[in-house]
Amino acid sequence: ADPGPAPAGLTPMMAQYFEIKAVNPGYLLFYRMGDFYELFFEDAEIASAALGIVLTKRGKHLGEDIGMCGVPIHAANDYLNKLIKLGHRVAICEQMEDPAEAKKRGSKSVVRRDVVRLVTPGTLTEDDHLDARSSNYLASLAMVRHGETDFALAWADISTGESFVADLSAGQLADEMARIAPAELLLAETTRAALAERHLFAPAWASIASTIPAESADSEAASAVLRRAFPGESFDPSALSRAGRAALGALVAYVGESQKGRRAPLRPPVLGAAESAMAIDAATRASLEILVTQRGQAKGSLRAAIDLTVTAPGARLLAGRLAAPLRQAGPINERLDAVGRLVDDTLLRARLRQDLKAAPDLARALSRLSLDRGGPRDLAAIGKAVAAALDLAGHLSAQPDLPPVLARLADILGAAPRPLASELGLALDDELPLLSRDGGFVRAGYDARLDEERALGRETRAVVAALQARLMDETDVRSLKIKHNGVLGFFVEVPAAHGQKLLEAPHRDIFIHRQTLANAMRFTTTELAELEGRIAKAQDAALEIELAIFARLREEVLSRIAPLQGLADALAELDVTAALAEVSALRGYARPKVDDSLAFAILGGRHPVVELMVKEEGQSFVANDADLSGSEEAGGGALWLVTGPNMGGKSTFLRQNALIAILAQMGCYVPADSAHIGVVDRLFSRVGASDDIAHGRSTFMVEMVETAAILNRATRRSLVVLDEIGRGTATFDGLSIAWASVEALHESTGCRALFATHFHELTSLAKTLARVANVTMKVREWEGEVVFLHEVGPGAADRSYGIQVARLAGLPEPVIARAKQVLDVLEQRSAGTASSRQKASVLDDLPLFAHQPPPAPKGKDPVYEALDTIRPDEMTPRQAIETLYQLKKIR
Ligand code: ADP
Repeated sequence: ADPGPAPAGLTPMMAQYFEIKAVNPGYLLFYRMGDFYELFFEDAEIASAALGIVLTKRGKHLGEDIGMCGVPIHAANDYLNKLIKLGHRVAICEQMEDPAEAKKRGSKSVVRRDVVRLVTPGTLTEDDHLDARSSNYLASLAMVRHGETDFALAWADISTGESFVADLSAGQLADEMARIAPAELLLAETTRAALAERHLFAPAWASIASTIPAESADSEAASAVLRRAFPGESFDPSALSRAGRAALGALVAYVGESQKGRRAPLRPPVLGAAESAMAIDAATRASLEILVTQRGQAKGSLRAAIDLTVTAPGARLLAGRLAAPLRQAGPINERLDAVGRLVDDTLLRARLRQDLKAAPDLARALSRLSLDRGGPRDLAAIGKAVAAALDLAGHLSAQPDLPPVLARLADILGAAPRPLASELGLALDDELPLLSRDGGFVRAGYDARLDEERALGRETRAVVAALQARLMDETDVRSLKIKHNGVLGFFVEVPAAHGQKLLEAPHRDIFIHRQTLANAMRFTTTELAELEGRIAKAQDAALEIELAIFARLREEVLSRIAPLQGLADALAELDVTAALAEVSALRGYARPKVDDSLAFAILGGRHPVVELMVKEEGQSFVANDADLSGSEEAGGGALWLVTGPNMGGKSTFLRQNALIAILAQMGCYVPADSAHIGVVDRLFSRVGASDDIAHGRSTFMVEMVETAAILNRATRRSLVVLDEIGRGTATFDGLSIAWASVEALHESTGCRALFATHFHELTSLAKTLARVANVTMKVREWEGEVVFLHEVGPGAADRSYGIQVARLAGLPEPVIARAKQVLDVLEQRSAGTASSRQKASVLDDLPLFAHQPPPAPKGKDPVYEALDTIRPDEMTPRQAIETLYQLKKIR
C-alpha cells in the first residue's frame, strides 16, 4: 500500500498524509477528516473491497486519480472490526487540534494530525472487537543462539493484562502454539527464516505472523524495556532466560508502540513451564474437539458441553484450563477437593453462583481504564465486582474447614477494597453513558458544586419556559414555542401564518429572523441568546466537574490495579470451581482418583458430548468400562485392540477415555461411575484422519507423520488413542504398519493405549503380546438388519457389517445385492485359508459386475439376422434411413 515517494507540488494535506503513511508501513491508514476516517490510494481499494463501501476519487497524484473511501466516525468501530477480522492492521490517525487553530496559522496550513493507535489482531481492548468468553493473545517468539538454540515464547492478553513467558525446546514449539492459539505472533525476520529452514515454522502461523525489527528481539535491549515496563520490585527480568527476555521485551515494546504511549496494564509475567501441563499436540487438540470442533465451531466441543460458568472471565479461565490440564497429582487433587466441596454443598454452590452473576468483567474494565479508553460503565463495573467479591467472601468464610483452594479464594475476595466500592457506588448514577464526555453520570448529591451548576442549568430552563409564556402573551401567538436544536441553539418558532406578524413593528425590534421553513418561521431574541449562554456555561461547568471526578476515581482505581487484578483472578477461579461442581452434580459425574500410578481404570464411562446429543434425541447413552492399568513391573500399561463395525461406537469409546483423562487432570469430576487415573504426561489422539491437501500431504502421509510423532514421543506415562492406522494405503502395507505400530507401542513405549482397527488380523497379537487385549463393539443381527448396541465387550468382531451399514447409508439396492454376492464368494473360497493374498486372488476370479443386457438368443430372431447383414460403412444416408424403416417393420 505504499504510494511511493511524495513528489513536489503536493497539497499540504497530501504531503502530511505521505509523511504519516511512510512511518507506518504495513498499516491501512485511517486518516481523520472531520466526521470521517478517509483512506487513500491502495488502502482505499483494499478497504472498499473488504468493507463493500464506495471507492471515490479525490484530486490527482502523478497524473492519476487518487482513490479514496471513507468510514463515518460513528460507525468506525464496526468497520475496524471487519478489517481486523480479515487480517488487516490499521493505524488510526486523529486530528490533534481544532481546525480553527490551523486556520489561524495561515490559509495553507493543515490541521496537525498524528497516529494515536495501531490496531492489530493481538492488541484489541474494546468489547466490540473481542469475544467476551475467549482470551485474545498476542504472542512473541524469540530465538537465541548460544551453543544450542533456545526458544522462548511470551504471550499476553492486553485486554486483561495477563502475561506469560515459557522457555521451549524446538519440539515443544508447535504444541505450545496450538495450546495458546494466539491471534497474532510477533517474530523477527531472521527468526522466521531460521525456523523455516529447520521446518519449524508451521504453515498455519503465516496468517498471524507480524514481523518485528530484529533489534527489538535483542535480549539486552529487552532488559531495559522490561525494567521500564515493570518498575520496582514486582519483577526482575534477570529471572528470565535470554530468549525469555527477548520474547517478552519485544512483546512489551510492540504493545507500547501500538498504544502510542498509553500504559497497557501488563502484569508481571507468569513463568510457565511446558512441563507442568499435560502435553497435547495440535492434532490431538483438533481430533478431541476440546475448545472447538474440527469444523471450527464452538457447539459440539468439550468446552461447550461443560461450560456452565456464569461470568465471561470464568469462561476464559475454563478454556485455559481445558487447554492445559495439569500433570501433578497434588495440584489436581487440590482443585478436585474444592470442586468436591461445592458438589456436596448444593446450597452454598447456588449462593455463590447467584452472587457471581452480579460480578462484571473486572479485568477488561481495568485494562480499558488503564489505556484511557474506559468510561463510566467501566468504573461502575469495578464497584460492582468489588461488592460481589465481598458478598462471596461472606458466604465462604461462614463455612467451617474450607479446602485450601476455597480458603485462599475467600481470603483474596475478603480483602477487596470496600471503601472503593462505596465511593464508586455513591459517585456513579444508576444509568450510565458509555463515554465520560457525554456527562450526566455522577449521582446527584455526590458533589455540591456539581449540584449547583446543574441547578443553575435547570433554573435557567425554567426561565426559558417563563419566557415562552411571556412572548406568547406579548405577540398574542398561542402556538409560539421555544425550541432547541444543534444548529440554531434555542429559538422561537411560530407557524408560517404568524411569521409575518413578528417581522413587523413592534415585534421586529425584539425578534431577529433566523430561518424560514415551509410551515414555520424561526427567530431568536437577545434575552434568549443570553439565557442560552448561561445554560451552556452551566453545562460546560458541570461537565468539567464530572470529568474531574471521573479522572480522580480512575486514578483511585488504577492506584490499586495490582490487587484488583488479583481479585479478578479470584472471581474467575471461583466461577470455574462452582461451574465444574455444577456440571458434575447435574450430570452425575464422579470424582476421579488421580495419583502417580499407571492406572487407567474407568467404570461406566461416558462421552461428555455425545451423551448430551444422544439424550437430546431421547435415547440413552451406553456406558462402557475401560481398563488400561499397568505397572512398571508389568512393563507398562495395557493396549486394547478395539474392533467392531462402522457406526458401532468405536471412535466415541476411544475419544471418551481421552476426554475423561483431560477432565480429571484439569480438576473436574468425570462422566463415569468411577475412575482411577495415574497422571498422564502426554495425550495422543488420532481419531478420524483428515486430509491436509492444502499443504500437499495425503491422508496417508499425514497419518504416518502423526504416527511417527506418537511413536517417537510417547512415554510409559502417556495415553495413546489411535483409530485405524494404515487405512489410507494398500491392505498389506496398512496392515503391516498397524501391526508394527502396535508392537512398538507395546514393547518399547509401554504406554496405555486404545487402538481401533478394521484389520481383524491384528487381533491375533493378543495371543503373543502380554498386555494386549481384544475388545469389540457388540452388535445384534435381527431379521437381516444390524442393531448397534454400543457396548464394549471382550473378544474380536468376526464380521464388519459393512454391507448393513452401507444399506443404512442408502446405497442403491442393486449395489447392496451385488456386494453381498461378492462377499459370499470371498468368504466361501477363503474359508479355511487365512491368507489375504489368497483372498485377493479369489477377487481376480470373480466375474465382473455386469451391467449389460442379457445376451440375445442369436440366429433365431429376424431382427438379429437383419442386423448381421448391415454394413454401416458402406451405406449412404438414404440407404441407412430405408434400412431403419425395414427393421421397424419386422416387429
Ligand atoms: P464408529 O467409530 O465405530 O464408526 P462412532 O463412535 O462414530 O462409531 O458412533 C456412531 C454413533 O453411534 C455416534 O454418533 C452416536 O450417535 C452413537 N453412539 C456411539 N457410542 C454410543 C454409546 N455408547 N451409547 C449410545 N450411542 C452411541
